[in-house]
Amino acid sequence: MENAENFSPVAVTGGSGYIASWIVLKLLERGIEVHTTVRNLSDERKVGHLKTMQKNFPGQLSLFEADLNIEGSFDAAIADCEALIHSASPFVISNISDPELELIRPAKVGTENVLRSADRAQTVRKVVLTSSVAAVHTDNNEWKNTSEGILNENHWNSTASAKYQPYSYSKTLAEKAAWEYAQQQDHWELAVINPSFVVGPSLSKRLDGTSSSTVAGFFTGQFKQGIPDLHFGMVDVRDVAQAHILALENPEAKGRFILMSEEMSLPEAGRILQNMQNGKLPVNLRVLPKALFYVMGPFLGFNWRYTRNNYGVPVKLDPGRSRDILSIKYTAIADSLKDHASQLVNDGLVSV
Ligand code: NDP
Repeated sequence: MENAENFSPVAVTGGSGYIASWIVLKLLERGIEVHTTVRNLSDERKVGHLKTMQKNFPGQLSLFEADLNIEGSFDAAIADCEALIHSASPFVISNISDPELELIRPAKVGTENVLRSADRAQTVRKVVLTSSVAAVHTDNNEWKNTSEGILNENHWNSTASAKYQPYSYSKTLAEKAAWEYAQQQDHWELAVINPSFVVGPSLSKRLDGTSSSTVAGFFTGQFKQGIPDLHFGMVDVRDVAQAHILALENPEAKGRFILMSEEMSLPEAGRILQNMQNGKLPVNLRVLPKALFYVMGPFLGFNWRYTRNNYGVPVKLDPGRSRDILSIKYTAIADSLKDHASQLVNDGLVSV
């Protein structure tokens, strides 16, 4: 085991994001120097919490502006770094008008741009990429077609496309591009983290990310017609951040790592959230009938094929490698959801 401290400074892309904010904080808490990128240094809503971290950890955190669509944009941030955690990538699942421009290009070409910057730095020894279980499968029912009867790291998403679940397609192309790039060079080793749906408190007050907007949605009327019976693997954001650091420091951490604490449906998550704050937070617990989701789904980015393959269908994902090799001890999702709801209330984003 090599200590993460030996990799200081570590470059983290997309430090303004939900997951990367926690990665940055956990590295700082270890005394590690961090270079992180944001798209717009003057957007207080996105960088305010990073500026607070700069005050709390004097001299340890440097902020850089960089955009995935611009070649060479990450050079300054990665220069002199011993390791790179590439987490920036658009996570958008609805209201997509141009999948190529909004998702596929920044994910895939952006990953190649970032890795070229890592090569130019010549100091990077390890790269950890935030991929997703979206690079493993598209639809929940796909485990039924596996010889193992469960989805694991040997499986690659082969059903998403620019037209069907383009976010999943973007993550698949980005991860494949990273593995291809890794094989063509010998400066750095690659480990890939494939989280399932991430929940847990956010370090910023942003609500534009998919994780926070989904949890806030239980309280803000997003599910007023009923909660769709959709099932996800779920994992705590603090465990996801920790997994990146464990993958960084463990020389045995090679290949892909699916992260999942528990499989859970949205109605079940709603029941857990309703029990919070002494029942003061109102959650509509009515389950949306499947027939109604067929009608409403297309307006939310879920077509009939998606409904057929996912509605009411549990997902089976095997996080065994993450437990065995990274030694992750997963937080119970009830605790993650409660902490997430508390953060939303404390930050004034949801009213009691
Ligand atoms: P967020 O939306 O909170 O963060 C996304 C980050 O990517 C932001 O920092 C954003 O910058 C940055 N970004 C997007 N487009 C660009 C661009 N063109 N140039 C530079 N930066 C860009 O999402 P998450 O933190 O949830 O996701 C982080 C990663 O984790 C993504 O790769 C996502 O696919 C993956 N993931 C997330 C899961 C989840 O449930 N949350 C599950 C599995 C994987 P800005 O702050 O300027 O908007």
